[in-house]
Amino acid sequence: MTYQPAPTRYDHTALYRRTGRSGLKLPRLSLGLWHNFGDTDLYDNSRALVLRAFDLGITHFDLANNYGPPPGAAERNFGRMLREDLAAYRDELIISTKAGYLMWDGPNGEWGSRKHILASLDQSLKRLGLEYVDIFYHHRPDPDTPLEESMGALAHAVRSGKALYVALSNYNPEQTAKAAAILRDLGTPCLLHQPKYHMYERTPERGLFDVLLKEGIGAIPFCPLAQGLLTNRYLNGIPEDSRAHRDPRFLKPEHITEEKLVQLRQLNAFAQARGQSLAQLALAWVLRQPAVTTALIGASKVAQIEDNLATFNAPDLTPSESAQIDKILGNT
Ligand code: NDP
Repeated sequence: MTYQPAPTRYDHTALYRRTGRSGLKLPRLSLGLWHNFGDTDLYDNSRALVLRAFDLGITHFDLANNYGPPPGAAERNFGRMLREDLAAYRDELIISTKAGYLMWDGPNGEWGSRKHILASLDQSLKRLGLEYVDIFYHHRPDPDTPLEESMGALAHAVRSGKALYVALSNYNPEQTAKAAAILRDLGTPCLLHQPKYHMYERTPERGLFDVLLKEGIGAIPFCPLAQGLLTNRYLNGIPEDSRAHRDPRFLKPEHITEEKLVQLRQLNAFAQARGQSLAQLALAWVLRQPAVTTALIGASKVAQIEDNLATFNAPDLTPSESAQIDKILGNT
C-alpha cells in the first residue's frame, strides 16, 4: 500500500535541536538500524519501525556499512524503504552511514585508510540507492593510519558530493580534538560525535563532552538504553523476543545480574514516581547533557518508539533528581 506520512509529523517543534554549531537540526531522538533491520528480521516489522518513527517526527536514521546480519543488509533493506516508501521525502530525511569496521576480505576491508573509507562509502551508496548520505562517519580510530589520511578521506567524501557532513565515532577526547582541527583546516568541520553513553557507561563525562562543547560538535550517544537493560524489558526475567535472548553476542544474559536488577527496580520505581517509564527516565538522563543533540535509540517494536518519544511529556530532570539517580547507581 502506498505510504502517506502523517501530516502531524512536525507538530512537536520542540523535538528539534541545532547540531553543535552547525545549521543542521536533528530530532532529540534518532533511530539506529544496528539490530532488527537485517535479513534475519521480518522486513514488514523493520518497515513499520521506520515509517512510524518518521510519522512521529524522527527524521534521522543511522546506519553503518556492516549493520545486518549479514553485513550490508540493513543498508539494503533501508534502501528498499527509501525507494518504495520514502523517495518523495528524501529532503526531509537525515541519513548517516559509517566506515571503519570489518566489511570485506583483505587488509583494507576495515580501519581508516583512504582506500577503505572511500570504497566503503561507494558500496554504502549503492546498497542504499542514494547519490549522497547526509552524514558520513569514521566508525573508530585507526592506530596505524595517519589521522590526516582518514580525515582527508572524509573531507574528500564531502567535496565529491557523496556526503553533506562528516562525523566521528568512538574517538577519545584527544583524538577528537586533533581530528576536529584537521577537519576544520580542510573546510569540512566535524558535525557530530557518536560515543557510547548511558547510566552504566559514563566515560564521555570525563573529557569528551567538554571537547565537543568547545569544538561546537554535537553528541549523539549510542545505546542510551544500554541495549534494553535500562527499560522494563528484563525486570522479571529474559523474554524470548528480547535482544539478550535472540542475539546474546552484545547484551549477554550473564551481565543481567541480581545486583543490576536491584538497581534497575529502584530506577524503575523512581521513574514511575515521575510518571515515566524506565526507558523514558534513561533517555531524559542522557539528554540532560548540554553537549547532547540527540539520543540514538534502537527498537524492535513500534510501541517502543512511541514509549520513547513520550519522554518529552515529563519535565526535564532537575539536578537534585540526577543526584538521586547517582545514589541509586552507587556513584555518590
Ligand atoms: P538502545 O540502548 O536504545 O537499545 C535498544 C533496545 O532497547 C531495543 O532493541 C529494545 O530491545 C529495547 N527498547 C527500546 N525502547 C524500549 C522501550 N521503550 N521499552 C522497552 N524496551 C525498549 O540502543 P541500541 O543498542 O539498539 O543502539 C542504538 C543505535 O546506536 C544502533 O542502532 C546504532 O545506530 C548505534 N550504535 C553505534 C555504535 C557505534 O560504534 N558507533 C555501536 C552500537 C550502536 P529488544 O530488542 O529486546 O526489544
